[in-house]
Amino acid sequence: MNKPVEMQNIQTVPLWIDGKHKQASGARSGEVTNPATGRVIRRVPLCNAADVDAAVQSAQRAFPAWRDSPPLRRARILMRFRELLDQNKDQLAALITAEHGKTLADAGGSVQRGIEVVEFAMGIPHLVKGEHSEEVGTGVDTHSLRQPLGVCAGITPFNFPIMVPLWMFPVALACGNTFVLKPSEKVPSASMRMAELLKEAGLPDGVFNVVHGDKEAVDALLNHPGIKAISFVGSTPIAKYIYETASKSGKRVQALGGAKNHAVVLPDMTASAADLEFTVDALMGAAYGSAGERCMSISAVVAVGASADPLVAKLKEKASRLKIGSGDGKDMDMGPLVTRAHRDKVAGYVDKGVAEGAKLTLDGRGLKVAGYQDGNFLGASLFDHVKTDMTIYKDEIFGPVLCVLRVDTLDDAIRMINANPYANGTAVFTRSGGAARKFEREIEVGMVGINVPIPVPIAFFSFGGWRNSLFGDQHVHGMEGVRFYTRGKVVTTRWPDANAVPQGFNMPTLG
Ligand code: NAD
Repeated sequence: MNKPVEMQNIQTVPLWIDGKHKQASGARSGEVTNPATGRVIRRVPLCNAADVDAAVQSAQRAFPAWRDSPPLRRARILMRFRELLDQNKDQLAALITAEHGKTLADAGGSVQRGIEVVEFAMGIPHLVKGEHSEEVGTGVDTHSLRQPLGVCAGITPFNFPIMVPLWMFPVALACGNTFVLKPSEKVPSASMRMAELLKEAGLPDGVFNVVHGDKEAVDALLNHPGIKAISFVGSTPIAKYIYETASKSGKRVQALGGAKNHAVVLPDMTASAADLEFTVDALMGAAYGSAGERCMSISAVVAVGASADPLVAKLKEKASRLKIGSGDGKDMDMGPLVTRAHRDKVAGYVDKGVAEGAKLTLDGRGLKVAGYQDGNFLGASLFDHVKTDMTIYKDEIFGPVLCVLRVDTLDDAIRMINANPYANGTAVFTRSGGAARKFEREIEVGMVGINVPIPVPIAFFSFGGWRNSLFGDQHVHGMEGVRFYTRGKVVTTRWPDANAVPQGFNMPTLG
């Protein structure tokens, strides 16, 4: 049998250690598939503890010189890195589409959002400035410093191969730390390209390293005594495991988990044709963009009062017209899901929703895309009359399945959202300032949109959810990112003159 074209020359993705490509030492490896064709396009090594140790040692060797380099010099390297990311945006987007499946336009947008974090991190000389108070006591001054931690590690999910790593390492490096990244084994190539671009930008060898793999590599990072902090983004059960395991060994941890994001639609937004159109267009992209594989996707619409019927009718009309195909196709709205197993799992949720009694208004199962019969495609599904005890409401589906829940009042909607174990993002659609203000104040969720369906904060604010969507105290990027990757020190200074009064044995009061 002839091998498919992509099988003929399958390369194994290398590691990046000491500023160079390295081969993994063990024999375990996995397959990277193109989700549109279903074909294997690369192999990825599944690293062992020895590989992880080599990366950590490289980062440890590079740390003292990097820590001691002036923040402005670090910022200049990030400025060059930012330019290189921008110049290579199309190539990076193509890498994302080939391994993840999302459309090229969507992939390009995610690279842009990542670039914005680099732009934030370029301001590091200002961001790590301390405070100073003179004469806090007679002849005594106090100032504060923020210093790097050492070697930090990032463990990232499949759905944003560029943007999520960029939430982490630009800020970590800017603060003077060195870094080991373990990207998702489903999408390993984009991280390798970023490593090459960092080197081209002038980053010293060893400051940034990449290892690949699964639980074995992750456990080696969690238990390595040389790593001071772990940033994780992924599903909730793994986030909880990462938080508990790494904090047991004294590491600082931020572990971002899964989500169930609700959009509340108030009746005033369906009263006029223009507002209904605006709201449904916003929900389309938020629910079905990236085939629902976003931690900020809207997966539950809470229709208040009379908004439900017009909303469901319009959602159905627009969702049934989505253009679904290979992510590199022209003007596609939605590509395939990341793997066959994930596609089947999401389709299984549609089966379950039907079995549990929700009304399947639009069925995306069984979609065939011409020329891509082995791709992991699933059409858009829309459920109405979903109840909070149904599996399709309780679980994070992470696919193109939108659930509509009907409630009577805004208070009911707020109560429902606040009772959900996830609390990443949420949105309200209304023209009422009072209702929006009430929602903003009473909702217990980390990121809130007012007529903005996916309220991912801009890089100079911080990104993170509440409850089971984040384990740890600090969100990523923005000032919380700077605080996460640094520790504070406060220095109290006195320069005694010849007539200084000798120090006593009592608690010093500096007076
Ligand atoms: P995942 O949890 O399966 O994997 C994330 C990372 O953990 C990967 O690098 C993977 O190799 C590693 N991993 C997987 N199983 C492990 C195990 N048993 N032990 C140790 N490490 C393990 O997540 P995913 O499927 O890659 O990504 C989708 C999930 O990520 C969704 O739940 C989504 O909501 C979430 N996510 C959250 C955010 C956020 O900001 N909160 C952002 C993006 C994605």
